Amino acid sequence: PLDTAQKIARLLGSRLEAQVVRAVDGIDLEIAEGEVVGLVGESGCGKSTLGRVVAGIYPPSEGTVRYKGADTATLHGRERRAAELAVQMVFQDPMASLNPRLRVVDIIGEAPVVHGLVTRRDVDAYVCEVMTRVGLDPATRKRYPHQFSGGQRARIGIARALAVNPKVVVCDESTAALDVSIQAQVLNLFMKLREELGLTYLFVSHDLGVVEHIADRVAVMYLGRIVELAPAEELFRKPNHPYTQALLAEVPRLEPKKKTFSALKGELPSPLHPPSGCHFHPRCPFAMPRCKAEKPMLKEVAPGRFSTCHLNDEPAKAA
Ligand code: SF4
Ligand code: MG
Repeated sequence: PLDTAQKIARLLGSRLEAQVVRAVDGIDLEIAEGEVVGLVGESGCGKSTLGRVVAGIYPPSEGTVRYKGADTATLHGRERRAAELAVQMVFQDPMASLNPRLRVVDIIGEAPVVHGLVTRRDVDAYVCEVMTRVGLDPATRKRYPHQFSGGQRARIGIARALAVNPKVVVCDESTAALDVSIQAQVLNLFMKLREELGLTYLFVSHDLGVVEHIADRVAVMYLGRIVELAPAEELFRKPNHPYTQALLAEVPRLEPKKKTFSALKGELPSPLHPPSGCHFHPRCPFAMPRCKAEKPMLKEVAPGRFSTCHLNDEPAKAA
């Protein structure tokens, strides 16, 4: 039997295609080299699962994940390993993802040794280099995770991912557990590393304030589907999809940490049994009879802007 996460992966899997995602119905979400794509939505919408599928932690059951055009499931040997190493994940809760019984030098050094990127003899110096890059003091490398602050542990998680020289980093609300000033420092580190190393990010977050700050493009997810995809600046200025509009209406601009999704009427339905037609129709203030019956396709509503909403076929009513 599949656990819920796997079921969601399966649900998403049917729509997955790319390094990157087949959002719905033949539209790929491609992430360009050097780009930062934010993936937002309420908790339970499937965004974390999608992040893990992109990072190769969960397999897509039907669609494909592509890296540089190649379906990662069809790669073998060295090519497969290279594609796996190229996409790394930084987890939401650094404490839960760091083995408490391992010293930091081993946490960071393990994967590069296993994958032959560095020899056992040289790994100590290598770890010092990586720690310095993320703003950790290499003199602390023999310590254990609990001996570090939350912000430092976040950096350890980042160092572990960087140690295998990834090209793409999937961040799952990596800064959510941190207080605001530390969170800002970690976000700045992500941006500095992007510049220095030419990294590409998929930034999974429920924090629209964070995403507005760092993303080039934003994908909004609702119940396992991407409902809107647009350049960040345009999406925040003029959201197309009613769901995106509702999300943005709830962000108190001055207190981004305090937002809730309470203004959306109704509970988030189960992604395993989504409503018919447009998944959002039970909560949508603009729902029409058609919305219950007919699934809206992801359509390009302006150059580079995609949305799944029937209102786009009825310009008179479009918001
Ligand atoms: Fe609302 Fe209908 Fe658009 Fe769905 S398709 S978001 S229910 S107006
Ligand atoms: Mg999550």
